[in-house]
Amino acid sequence: MEVNFKNVTKKYGNTIAVKDLNLKIESGALHFLLGPSGCGKTTTLRMLAGLEKVTSGAIFFDGKDVTNLPAADRGIGMVFQNYALWPHMSVRENVAYGLKLRNLSKSEIEGRINEALQITQLTPFASRAPGQLSGGQQQRVALARALAIRPNVLLLDEPLSNLDAKLRLEMRDNISRIHKQTGITTLYVTHDQKEALSMGTSISIMHGGNLIQTGTPRSLYREPATPFIAGFIGETNIIPGRLKSVESDHVIVATCLGEIKSNRFSKGLGIGKDVYVSIRPEAIQLELKHSGQSQNRFEVNLQHLTYLGESEQLQLVKGDLFLKANQFNAADHGLNDGDGVRIYLPETDTLVLPPDSNLGANT
Ligand code: ADP
Ligand code: MG
Repeated sequence: MEVNFKNVTKKYGNTIAVKDLNLKIESGALHFLLGPSGCGKTTTLRMLAGLEKVTSGAIFFDGKDVTNLPAADRGIGMVFQNYALWPHMSVRENVAYGLKLRNLSKSEIEGRINEALQITQLTPFASRAPGQLSGGQQQRVALARALAIRPNVLLLDEPLSNLDAKLRLEMRDNISRIHKQTGITTLYVTHDQKEALSMGTSISIMHGGNLIQTGTPRSLYREPATPFIAGFIGETNIIPGRLKSVESDHVIVATCLGEIKSNRFSKGLGIGKDVYVSIRPEAIQLELKHSGQSQNRFEVNLQHLTYLGESEQLQLVKGDLFLKANQFNAADHGLNDGDGVRIYLPETDTLVLPPDSNLGANT
């Protein structure tokens, strides 16, 4: 089912939790809301579920206005960070709970429970109590309970936050598989960019109640619209500078390193204005032999090198500017802390962005 938010705002007193949200979630998507704590993710989810009234604007399911439809009539399955299972009931009874409140035949209920247990791979644990399960298994019970009602939309609010790192990875795979198998339109809330990048078919970034960019994992990583997004989705180096010139296919930015040429830049940047050059740590190249070229090549100092086998991390410094560079399959260069290093910032890997201006209704 397609979900559409149109100009949705939510205020709590003077706090604007969500500001003029316009967002379409395609039918069958695994769509992520990603952003730091307090940016309005849970509020958005709760408005979708009908647990929170919108202050203004409207929400549509497949084009039908559901803004005033009660929560119970929206067909929503929800999973939270704390599993919210009944401790005195078996796994099977927990999954059955939401179905008993509906007007379904006994055989229909049995069929749905079995299907939900099977898809979450819980069939062998059906008669156990939640206390006899691991955290990951308990979260799968919560998922099975949400799936058993055959929801129009599945809402997951930080579902993996209470799990340890290994289980989190396992559950990522589980949820991705279940989403593929069922094709249920899913809205997944998290502050963990790795979860969003690795699982999402699309991602919306929120900050201070505003939705600031929506895209695929690849497009957000490659073309973040602002320095905040560049730093939030993956790691990046931000080099402040002033825009010196704009040509059709490149711009030149004056920075403390020197002039940086970039083939990738936001539209409408003004000459003489403050801008930011973003470059990913893995895109910075070491120039161990002088190439004879000077464009985008700079002399910096190696402050510290961390050798990790398959890669190495270099902390580089020039004046007040610190840069992080990750080298994979690195040559045995014999560099030591304190050495001078020549780096190359490829024109196609530098991204010139305007300052974050659109951020923060309530920050
Ligand atoms: P997130 O889920 O992204 O961490 P929330 O949607 O929970 O953020 O909160 C967004 C903003 O709305 C925060 O500033 C929060 O303090 C505020 N807020 C959320 N729920 C309430 C509430 N029931 N009453 C007052 N303020 C709230
Ligand atoms: Mg939240």
